Amino acid sequence: MRYPEAAFVTSRRCFLRSASLAATTVMFSEAQFAQAVPQARANAVSPAKSAVDENRMRALAAWTALTLETPNPVPYGAEIVHSQSGERLMRATNAVGQEHDPSAHAEVRAIRLACSQLNSYSLRGYTLYTTCEPCPMCMACALWARLDRVVYGATIADAARFGHQILIPATEIAKRSDMTCVVEGPVERDLCFALFTNPNMQNTFKRWNSEKP
Ligand SMILES: [Zn+2]
Repeated sequence: MRYPEAAFVTSRRCFLRSASLAATTVMFSEAQFAQAVPQARANAVSPAKSAVDENRMRALAAWTALTLETPNPVPYGAEIVHSQSGERLMRATNAVGQEHDPSAHAEVRAIRLACSQLNSYSLRGYTLYTTCEPCPMCMACALWARLDRVVYGATIADAARFGHQILIPATEIAKRSDMTCVVEGPVERDLCFALFTNPNMQNTFKRWNSEKP
């Protein structure tokens, strides 16, 4: 598989045979990946920060892959971490089907739950990782939440190969806002794209597409 713009893809480690655990929404308070993340600056990704982003994306992809062995597989996982300490605050997967909620995308759920956890509408000082480039709804939510950065894995064009999408790049949404959020990606694109091409996920996409009202 060849991606001309996949400048950050460095690993093809496959996590998709992970043990079957029900992976929906989990709250974490323990400090993991405690390497400090430098202050984000557009177009100035340091090698150290890139390595941290890759590590976090690999871990997020592995966690999201756990859903692929459950009755409700999804390729979409999101995680919010403190931008400086790396402390993980919240993880969530897409739950549109389970919650009967079209806005229950992984990023929106992670943001809602993180804000609830902090008793604040603001996630300033935090970074959102997501296995797929945020759709316009999720990117707008990231902006309203004042997140420092959004780091994504697969692109929204990748996701559009398997279902409906609103094909506006996340960077375009951010550019049109007077609120600042650095958008970076793709990071570990092949690994995140493999969440979509997993056989169980492919069967589920077929079912979703055949069940369209
Ligand atoms: Zn979304």
